[in-house]
Amino acid sequence: MSGKKDYYEILGVPRNATKEQIKEAYRRLAMLYHPDRNKSPEAEEKFKEISEAYAVLSDDEKRRQYDMLGQVGFQQQYTPEDIFRGADFESIFRDLGFGFDFDNIFDFFFGKERFRRENVGRDLYYELQITLEEAAKGVEKEIEIYRNEICDTCHGSGASPGTSPKTCNVCKGTGQVQRVQSSGFARFVQITTCYACKGKGTVIETPCRECRGTGVTKRKRKVIVKVPQGIDEGYRLRLEGQGDIPPNGGRPGDLYIGIRIAPHKHFRREGDDIFYKLEISFPQAVLGTEVIVPTLDGNTTIRIPPGTQPGETIRLHGKGMPRLDRRGRGDLIVEVNVTVPKKLTPRQRELIQELAKEFNTGNVDYERTRNRFFKF
Ligand SMILES: [Zn+2]
Ligand SMILES: [Zn+2]
Repeated sequence: MSGKKDYYEILGVPRNATKEQIKEAYRRLAMLYHPDRNKSPEAEEKFKEISEAYAVLSDDEKRRQYDMLGQVGFQQQYTPEDIFRGADFESIFRDLGFGFDFDNIFDFFFGKERFRRENVGRDLYYELQITLEEAAKGVEKEIEIYRNEICDTCHGSGASPGTSPKTCNVCKGTGQVQRVQSSGFARFVQITTCYACKGKGTVIETPCRECRGTGVTKRKRKVIVKVPQGIDEGYRLRLEGQGDIPPNGGRPGDLYIGIRIAPHKHFRREGDDIFYKLEISFPQAVLGTEVIVPTLDGNTTIRIPPGTQPGETIRLHGKGMPRLDRRGRGDLIVEVNVTVPKKLTPRQRELIQELAKEFNTGNVDYERTRNRFFKF
């Protein structure tokens, strides 16, 4: 459907145009864009557009509704089939010498398109949360989904058990109908989707009760998802053919697994690197020490060099996340924070005061630092 453009503009007629003016405008445009005349894809679109405009403006009731409701309101009231139904395309095309499937106006405009498109089921989406460790090592998860599968009762035929779909009388099972039109010396062959069976080639006389003739029913299914190592939040895995089977047969859709990674009690991840916040005491920072830190592969001991400053980082190469689809791993980055104690034992207080005096005798101006530390 054209959607936005005004039907009067499409046909190039004023809003108070008479029915004759509208018809004349459409005939003129149809000569330019009819598929028998113009094979370009743009022409096909344009032809649909002018035909839609004509179908509405040539019908008194539809035109009145259109004038009243506007484009959007009108298209909410009418289905595409309704819009095209009832217009006198038959006599116009015959008059202009074009071929046409007179029985089914809608298929003439949209049938080819629908026929060309393969019947594919709906894609499904599932959100899967895993831990950072699982993301690091890769994991297999079993999930449960609901999807449309082939109906057990009719085995997908859509026909009630004991009966079977009959070959379509109209197209003799080919799913297509051919029309030969003669106009003077010219003959035109038009092939369109069969209107009686919608291109399937068969018709169901007694539909299956279980699936109401669609050949598919909803089923709960377990699916194994293989999550590759190194995967990150927001990735989507595609499981081809694990989505819905479409009604009336065809190729199943796909199942998409959206990956979420649960927050970790120790680590923050950025790409292939992970970060760990390490708290050490003032003496440890000053004197240096060895501490145990967690990694994805278990605990490890790292050395804190003497004189480590708050905010300094220590990089453990190759201890981060595996790179997705590549060799190697990111790094584990240890962010060092120096804890300043808020409560002191009398002994600690005594020692720190000693230490402060000691600093005063050195090159640190004790009075100035004291003001800075204690005034606020
Ligand atoms: Zn069935
Ligand atoms: Zn048919």
